Amino acid sequence: MTRRDAPAAVVRVPAKVNLELRVGAPREDGFHGLATVYHAVDIFDEVTVELADDWGVEVHGDHADKVPVDETNSAMRAARLLAQRHQIDQPVHLTIEKSIPVAGGMAGGSADAAAALLGCDAVWGLDLSRPDLETVAAKVGSDVPFLLTGGTALGSGRGEHVVPVLTQGTFDWVFALHHEGLSTATVYARVDQLREGLNVPEPSTSEALMTALRAGDVDGLAAALSNDMEEAACSLVSRLRTTMMAGLEHGALATIVSGSGPTVAFLARDRTAAIDLMVALSADGLGDEVVHARGPVVGAQIIREQGLRTS
Ligand code: ATP
Repeated sequence: MTRRDAPAAVVRVPAKVNLELRVGAPREDGFHGLATVYHAVDIFDEVTVELADDWGVEVHGDHADKVPVDETNSAMRAARLLAQRHQIDQPVHLTIEKSIPVAGGMAGGSADAAAALLGCDAVWGLDLSRPDLETVAAKVGSDVPFLLTGGTALGSGRGEHVVPVLTQGTFDWVFALHHEGLSTATVYARVDQLREGLNVPEPSTSEALMTALRAGDVDGLAAALSNDMEEAACSLVSRLRTTMMAGLEHGALATIVSGSGPTVAFLARDRTAAIDLMVALSADGLGDEVVHARGPVVGAQIIREQGLRTS
């Protein structure tokens, strides 16, 4: 239970698309080595963290019914882990307003976890440093440190080591959501199956992509988009290819599966081109939902707070 005037922090957190996703062979710990370029876009979840009498989580908004409201919720796992590490016995109640597609390859669960860490840090008055928060974030999940940082960033290891990338300007994207949902683990298993017997090189990102980002060159970016999970995702949800082809015919500069899918991302030349593309794809009935988004945007941020002690 929460009180109306309970100390609280509201955190806004973006979704991500991987501009490049290079997947290595499975490691001994079962994870795949990655070299990736993350890019945060302005599709946001909002997570409210309130001091409460009991631990709890509730989820509202699009597709809330697909998100667990128990200890397996990623935001709850993050809050519990932070409490354990800092011997906090003050429960929090988490309220998640979801807009990021669930199981869509846009890291919605990781985003909520990053938001919960930032909100808990504030309401418990921990005032942790960035590196400390990132250490806990990496334990919650591979994408969580990036969602704290946002912007555009290189990810290595299993994705948890994040270094910001210099970029210029803003890019316009259209995302076609497919409601099938794909579990990340299933797509990795398919990647391994498709590669059976092949020699998998150490993953590394391309210099062409860095050059395009530094220059704000949308055509260079279009040419450099690449995702090693795309073939596997498309083999599991065959209509993704149809959506991708249609977007290119309607003028997208390039298309890519977002992360492990099944969301498909299209890069547009500018805002007008993105809106035209969104209308054309919606009219075709391709994708279950089509949205325009821009990136890069900052990572998890406290946008409102109530009753917090200031140091
Ligand atoms: P990624 O891009 O990191 O691979 P994803 O975007 O494909 O992830 P998520 O939306 O993070 O997938 O959800 C994966 C699963 O995690 C869902 O099926 C859902 O049951 C579970 N889950 C747990 N907590 C959350 C949360 N807060 N938001 C969304 N999903 C959650």
